[in-house]
Amino acid sequence: DNSGGLGTPLFDEDGLDDLRPQRLADVVGQQAVVERLQIMLNAARKRDEPLSHLLLDGPPGLGKTTFATVLPRELGTECQITSGPSLSAPKDLLPYLTNASHGSVLFIDEIHRMPPSVEEFIYPAMEDFRVDITLGEGLNARTINMKLKRFTLIGATTRSGMLTAPLRDRFINREHLEFYTVEELTEIVTRNAKKLNVEITHDAAIEIARRSRGTPRNSNSFLRWTRDFADSEADGRISTEVAVEALKKREIDVTGLDRQDRRYLETLIRVFDGGPAGVAALGHSMNIPPDTLEDEIEPFLLRSGFIKRTPRGRMISLSAFQHLGLATPADDGT
Ligand code: ADP
Repeated sequence: DNSGGLGTPLFDEDGLDDLRPQRLADVVGQQAVVERLQIMLNAARKRDEPLSHLLLDGPPGLGKTTFATVLPRELGTECQITSGPSLSAPKDLLPYLTNASHGSVLFIDEIHRMPPSVEEFIYPAMEDFRVDITLGEGLNARTINMKLKRFTLIGATTRSGMLTAPLRDRFINREHLEFYTVEELTEIVTRNAKKLNVEITHDAAIEIARRSRGTPRNSNSFLRWTRDFADSEADGRISTEVAVEALKKREIDVTGLDRQDRRYLETLIRVFDGGPAGVAALGHSMNIPPDTLEDEIEPFLLRSGFIKRTPRGRMISLSAFQHLGLATPADDGT
């Protein structure tokens, strides 16, 4: 059984996610967020009340699902999981709402991708714990009002800017997850190596952490790959040398950029002369949906200073040329 209760799959990209923290105390980093969530939990327990609705935003792989599943576990309540794209009409959401027990958590991943009809349907559920259901059509149509149990909605989004204001405002608590430091990721790699029963040196853990683009999901995925590499090509132990070789094989460079990231930078340089270029045009050239560029590729490139966002579009920065080993554009006489 791979479900987390009520038929909720808890698979990650790498199969069953046995590395996901189970308790708040197992969560590494995001210290300020953890402290605030702990206060919310304490207060909810003391008053014996459900948590208020919570919105988590931040790039993929930073722990939104982790927090959303840790909280109900801390409270000892049920957790249902669904996602915006799979809710195409109010009738898709209704069973989750009516199933929700008092104090339980309903987690909606990618909540910015709910269609407007579902969004409007969820407002009264969030505010007054009721839904309005229209039965019949035309003159015979009537609306019935259904009471729900007091549940907690946890929404996750990669871009809170994509949320409509009315939806965003209905979340009393909003937390933004930031990229992790190399130290935090080193800690995650070290802990998880222990869970996976593989020997790793401290320097090798740092090496993996440094290339993880600030993202625990990458750390975990690189650790699993490096472990496979160590078993296949070495004596099963992860030394710095093994880690470096393994990541080289996966075409991850020293700052953690992968082939896709480098292709983005090269496209911006070669096709758009370094920019400014709109994200739609970039996506078109790369044959990747612009949403994917904005959600998964650009945040880290922006943070690393390889690209800049300007009102006219994305611009390459000099450090990207240096990083790719390309000649910087000639000075145009200024
Ligand atoms: P998101 O929902 O934001 O895409 P996830 O919660 O699925 O991200 O996190 C991806 C993986 O990274 C998780 O499976 C978990 O193993 C790991 N992870 C995320 N955040 C942390 C953290 N703070 N401490 C330890 N591991 C983490």
